Amino acid sequence: MKRIILTGILLCSVTALGFGNDGMFSRYFRDATMRYDFYHVGTKGKERIVPDKIYEEGEWPGSLTNLIDTLNLGEYLFKVVDSKTNQVIYSRGYSCMFNEWQTTDEAASGLFRTFQESVRFPYPLHKIQLTISRRDKRMIFHEIFSAEIDPESIVIHHEKLSSDHVIPVIKNGDSHQKVDIVILGDGYTKDEMKKFDTDAKHFSDILFSTNPFKEKKNDFNVWAVEVPSEETGIDQPDYHRWVNNALGTSYNTFGSARYVLTDENRVVRNYASAAPYDFMIILVNTNRYGGGGIYQLYAVSYTIGETPATAWQSDYVCVHEFGHAFAGLGDEYYSSSVAYNDFYPKGVEPWEPNLSSDPSREHLKWRDMVLSTTPLPTPWEKAKYDSIENERARLNPQSKNYAERRKELIDAEGKILDSQQFKNVVGAFEGAGYSSTGLYRPSVDCRMFSLSLADFDPVCARAIERMIDFYSK
Ligand SMILES: [Zn+2]
Repeated sequence: MKRIILTGILLCSVTALGFGNDGMFSRYFRDATMRYDFYHVGTKGKERIVPDKIYEEGEWPGSLTNLIDTLNLGEYLFKVVDSKTNQVIYSRGYSCMFNEWQTTDEAASGLFRTFQESVRFPYPLHKIQLTISRRDKRMIFHEIFSAEIDPESIVIHHEKLSSDHVIPVIKNGDSHQKVDIVILGDGYTKDEMKKFDTDAKHFSDILFSTNPFKEKKNDFNVWAVEVPSEETGIDQPDYHRWVNNALGTSYNTFGSARYVLTDENRVVRNYASAAPYDFMIILVNTNRYGGGGIYQLYAVSYTIGETPATAWQSDYVCVHEFGHAFAGLGDEYYSSSVAYNDFYPKGVEPWEPNLSSDPSREHLKWRDMVLSTTPLPTPWEKAKYDSIENERARLNPQSKNYAERRKELIDAEGKILDSQQFKNVVGAFEGAGYSSTGLYRPSVDCRMFSLSLADFDPVCARAIERMIDFYSK
């Protein structure tokens, strides 16, 4: 009897101390966001984190209960550790420009470069230790940085970082229980803000017409922040076109013509802080095919079709890139020109939920979704597809009729994918993650594979649903 009563008292006191529901949140945090900015410096095989500034942003937009990351995604993992108890009180996996740059020829040459980065977490009440870890080639995390932060320190900036106009695009409820997306525009002048508002609404509609976002639309809020640029459009270095655009987005990132990112992290984050956000989308006011997406950083997409016949491709790009940024999905395509060397080291299982190096029935990452009647690896007409894909990779974007010829080839590829025996089945199809052999994808086709409005395959859809649940509970 005594023992039972004692257990009861213990349970009550644990809850009172703050381990139940959002008790842990209120014990360690207040409802605001701390942003820790730093420089990520290094070359291939070497890196350093160098602290920059610390900011208080607005209300905390994230979950009050899912504080510890259980998803195991991303190249890095940061942890917030309570200094007194040594308890991990918040963690998130993420990726960044730096780790992608490390796989380029420039990094392989031994050159050092610096990228600005941020991690954001709820504003701590007491002193904390912030640690950052990086995966090794076997995917195991090792700590590369640790620093103590005193939330009362006078070096923390508390000024409002952005007073720009915020437009609610979709408002479904309290940010703590919703996934909050902020849409920023780059290359829109003051006179083009109406166009930005229309584009933000359009791409939000496109995202929420695609499953599983469509089914779970009620779990989201979407905000648009009007960012005026001095000039229209964004930088296109290969066309010698230089533009004074507010967020610094540019084509030709890491030498890839259609890869659009910005390395102006501080500028982007300051603008974004006008809205409560978990995830960012940057729409660029251009009519040239391009975009980019990095897990937990942002998704970038162009917005205007190159020709009326290819106008739908920007819809494809925006949702595809958001798949990277939101759910850590990997590229399932493999033969387009990318500037990476051994992005996925041979024989190592990638952390991306939709890529696997082991197609066996015992080890395949998504084996629970494969029917016993589906052969592994799963056959498809790869050689036929590759011959067309190779021609597409050789097309010169600056040649006449480029857009038309590209569309013809994309249509021909679509026909092949559409006629495969195992078309609507989860299996292990060879060719994924920029690698023609040795890496497998879950379906013949997916929004992460072909340039088409194909749905996310069931493995990608499950990864997206998990993420939505994690951020909306
Ligand atoms: Zn991609």
